[in-house]
Amino acid sequence: MTASGSANNGEISQYIRDKANRTRLAIESYYAQTMLQCADRDNRAARLEKQIAGCSDSEKEEKRKTHASKETDFLRMRRTKLSVADFQSLKVIGRGAFGEVRLVQKVDTGNIYAMKILRKADMIEKEQTAHVRAERDILSEADCEWVVTMYFSFQDHINLYLVMEFLPGGDMMTLLIKRDTLTEEETMFYIAEAALAIQAIHNIGFIHRDIKPDNLLLDAKGHIKLSDFGLCTGLKKIHRTELYRNWPSQLPSDFVSKPFESKRKAETWKKNRRAFAYSTVGTPDYIAPEVFLIEKLGYTKTCDWWSLGVIMYEMLIGYPPFCSETPQETYRKVVNWQQTLVFPPEMPISVDAKATIRRFCCDHDKRMGHSNGLEEIKQCPFFRRVDWDRIRELPAPIRIEVRGIADTSNFDDFSDADLSFPEVKEPPSGATNFAPTDRGEFLDYTFKRFQCLTQIMRYGGTNPTAQQAFMPSQQQQNANPKSVQQATPI
Ligand code: ATP
Ligand code: MG
Repeated sequence: MTASGSANNGEISQYIRDKANRTRLAIESYYAQTMLQCADRDNRAARLEKQIAGCSDSEKEEKRKTHASKETDFLRMRRTKLSVADFQSLKVIGRGAFGEVRLVQKVDTGNIYAMKILRKADMIEKEQTAHVRAERDILSEADCEWVVTMYFSFQDHINLYLVMEFLPGGDMMTLLIKRDTLTEEETMFYIAEAALAIQAIHNIGFIHRDIKPDNLLLDAKGHIKLSDFGLCTGLKKIHRTELYRNWPSQLPSDFVSKPFESKRKAETWKKNRRAFAYSTVGTPDYIAPEVFLIEKLGYTKTCDWWSLGVIMYEMLIGYPPFCSETPQETYRKVVNWQQTLVFPPEMPISVDAKATIRRFCCDHDKRMGHSNGLEEIKQCPFFRRVDWDRIRELPAPIRIEVRGIADTSNFDDFSDADLSFPEVKEPPSGATNFAPTDRGEFLDYTFKRFQCLTQIMRYGGTNPTAQQAFMPSQQQQNANPKSVQQATPI
């Protein structure tokens, strides 16, 4: 019988088939996860043995005991089901095409995080399920200083949640809107760090595909971390050529047809920039031409190096090389880059800088980074003064003002945003976290990082600076009457 009891046999078998399929997926993934977790635990034990190789026997014993107790705590934590009730929303700090990012505090530990919220129904409707899956996978796999650390991911009937370290420096888009242009010295630093970050994700087999200033985040010391891996598997609408063919054609405006003064162009670009970032379509300014042209044949990681060239141009000139009033016009300029990549004479930049941009923004098989990744970039004269091994330890050229661990002054203001979480009712018995339209796309989305436990332990307990560190505005306090007692950095 079907749930309603009124369907014919065909429907009955479809209903049972779906149910059986979900159960099979759930069992398979449960065992796959268990195997992975065992392997992770063995790796951690092996790593510990390496670290303590030089210690005395009693020290070794002590460290093994501490490690074993952390593993027990981790097992316990993994069994605890996380939900939005474990977090308090403090502020909305970002919006993108498919999600909202909030500053949140974990109720039990007081830790501060950034939480990315994605609506399942939107993901399914816009065929983004593979992308959100990729984002969760890369964030859990990439455990390096160049990628935003993810601590937890979980889901309910309505949303997917990624809980990440909060980077208080804001994003590069906001920095570029604030500053007219960057100096060549500053540009060298940020492009070198971004190149190291890109290489780090290429090393683990991912292509970012969406390298743009909004996705380069700055930590409290002004160093870069990559975020937003939603595109690591495949194409978004913005990458599809037909989008531009079908775009309503408009008369070319001033902005498009007349090569006009750089200052005005930069102003227009900056005025429109946030609207592009928050729209569901986005901007094709940073996308490599081959991504549009050979989408059916596939393309390689080289496309990420093109995007870096576009960002370098924007840092030095004040707007990206192909910017236009409409995405269609931008697309046309990108694919005709041989004619449209020009340097305005009123914005003089060094010969080395120009040559570097041209080496990034050229045919994909001749592009810097195509054959030997970062090693080629290290040889480029523009980067000759970069200390590649220590760059992250050196002071960043632009100091980031961070008044506390929950300071959001480097972010746009979304003060009108609703901070509540959706009311989630308990799923019917026997059901998993499937949404009504969901066929198992979000299975295994849940993740908890072992390090989050060790870091809580390290910072643990009361943090003497926490009270001063968190300075909620009056509005936030009103929105969250249960005011935040303690904020702990991660
Ligand atoms: P997409 O680009 O696929 O549409 P998105 O733009 O919705 O995704 P993100 O780029 O991950 O999602 O986040 C949007 C903005 O939120 C970022 O540009 C940044 O300003 C802010 N943000 C995201 N993650 C963090 C973080 N970990 N710490 C601080 N701010 C963040
Ligand atoms: Mg983004």
